[in-house]
Amino acid sequence: MLHDNLQVGVYPSDDFEDPFEDTRVTYDPAQFGAFIPDGGGTLRGRVSANGRYLACWREREKSRRGETYPEGICLAKDGTIVRTSELTEIEVATPANNGTTAVLRRVGEDDQLIVFDPDGVKVFEDTFESNVSAIAISPDGEYVVLSTAFPDNAVHLYQTRDGSGRYLGRTENRETSVLGDLRFGSYEGQSVVETYDIGPDSDLDVHENRTRVIDRIPLEPQIDVQSLSGICIVKSEDDDKFHFVPTSELSEIQGTLRIPGVQIDSTCGCSIEPVDSAVIFHEPKEAIESQFEFCLECRSETATYPDSKTERTRP
Ligand SMILES: [Zn+2]
Repeated sequence: MLHDNLQVGVYPSDDFEDPFEDTRVTYDPAQFGAFIPDGGGTLRGRVSANGRYLACWREREKSRRGETYPEGICLAKDGTIVRTSELTEIEVATPANNGTTAVLRRVGEDDQLIVFDPDGVKVFEDTFESNVSAIAISPDGEYVVLSTAFPDNAVHLYQTRDGSGRYLGRTENRETSVLGDLRFGSYEGQSVVETYDIGPDSDLDVHENRTRVIDRIPLEPQIDVQSLSGICIVKSEDDDKFHFVPTSELSEIQGTLRIPGVQIDSTCGCSIEPVDSAVIFHEPKEAIESQFEFCLECRSETATYPDSKTERTRP
């Protein structure tokens, strides 16, 4: 997915269309002549879901007729370049429907994510020791997600709101293969990121298992299982979900849960009688790994914004 780019023909605003390019944009030579050589050229690019924005970039300095043109990125809106920025070692850049753009750079040993707002102002950046294997921005520009290769092998989610990047957390990849594609979508009424080994519309000749969705990650703070302290309860045999009860709720009844008459409140406000409940998990990790689903309200109430990015690195 990192290599799934367009070839973009860049033309002076008074020139003609070239039918061999995937797509084309025009520029004003008087304004952007320091970035784009006389007569135009070809750049790699990505287009937004609504087709209005196109981010294109030059990953190496370019010389032509004794002039040097810098590495960098330009953003086109409705077919016309509106901005250029110098930036080195760009691997890929992908724009949202409002022009917010996520850029991945390979900087020496590290990979770096930078997100720019629609005006080209940097919103935030983050750096990974593991290679970044896929990157995506939600169509509304509100969320950015990336996946890492080994040793981290995980998905990292960010919110771009309010001019700053809020880290929503890390979710371990369930598979041992590296995630090669990420898609924003919805599932049972909830906004999610779908993870794939290979994207569902890939034309590679691979077994269909490899293009199936692997995981659906909700667009909200990610649960750090290690920091959850409490129990999880499935109320009845007919339930397919579990509720969370924090340790603080249990202080007076710890160890005596299944005594008749004992009542406790879940995080979502359910009153539960443990004596009648179907399953009690004493470790939240076991509940999350079971066939039951986390009650959405309990989950949202329980999830906490991580203070900083966590990444599994080489020892
Ligand atoms: Zn609940």
